[in-house]
Amino acid sequence: MPIISLRDVHKSFGAVEVLKGVSFDVRKGEVVCIIGPSGSGKSTLIRCINGLNNIQKGSIKVEGQEVNDPKLDLLALRRKVGIVFQQYNLFPHKTALQNVMMAPVLVLKEPRREVEERARALIAKVRLEGKENAYPGQLSGGQQQRVAIARSLAMRPDIMLFDEVTAALDPETVKEVLLTIRELAAEGMTCILVTHEMGFAREVADHVYFTDRGVIVEHGPPDQFFTKAKDPRTRQFLSQVL
Ligand code: ADP
Ligand code: MG
Repeated sequence: MPIISLRDVHKSFGAVEVLKGVSFDVRKGEVVCIIGPSGSGKSTLIRCINGLNNIQKGSIKVEGQEVNDPKLDLLALRRKVGIVFQQYNLFPHKTALQNVMMAPVLVLKEPRREVEERARALIAKVRLEGKENAYPGQLSGGQQQRVAIARSLAMRPDIMLFDEVTAALDPETVKEVLLTIRELAAEGMTCILVTHEMGFAREVADHVYFTDRGVIVEHGPPDQFFTKAKDPRTRQFLSQVL
């Protein structure tokens, strides 16, 4: 059974249909990359997967549960599905450690000591050992983004969604964030990444999807996708970014 399953997903904002029938499956441990031009619906799509956007038609199942079931426990869903955005939105007056600890302590009401131990381990995992007591303003963009990833991991998700998490970073800090994601993927975390980092997508993805104007126009394993794309829109996009 796929861990995520989308069938004919339609999403509109007012009269504007942004997703026009999107279907795909993600299996446990897979890394899926979504690429496509700006405005094609990539962010909307991944926000639908953890219930940040509702949908008008179709089905989204996460671990077999329908995301758009009005009876769904949204908190439980968001524990299972972590999301990291381009803007990391750390709390500026909290340290890295406090940022990572906050949700498990305040939302999940887990014992502080246990959470702190886990948070310290996560900060080490994202290679920020020694920065536990630093405030976001004292960290580079890439370091802040890694704190944001650790903060998301502190909820012990089964699935991680990354929405252009390196798009706002200085080139020299992009690599360290990609390294963190690569390590997570290698450990078997199920990941969906919206990214413009084509080299990275080619290297880590099990499957690549290309979206344009709310539909998936092409998809395949990276070897095939990046060298044998058939759709003219995909080919044109790739010729601009590769
Ligand atoms: P992408 O991430 O591929 O750049 P988005 O999913 O952000 O695309 O946006 C797809 C389209 O949906 C855009 O035209 C955008 O203006 C529109 N859109 C996204 N979010 C909203 C919203 N909350 N309200 C109205 N329109 C939105
Ligand atoms: Mg986007």
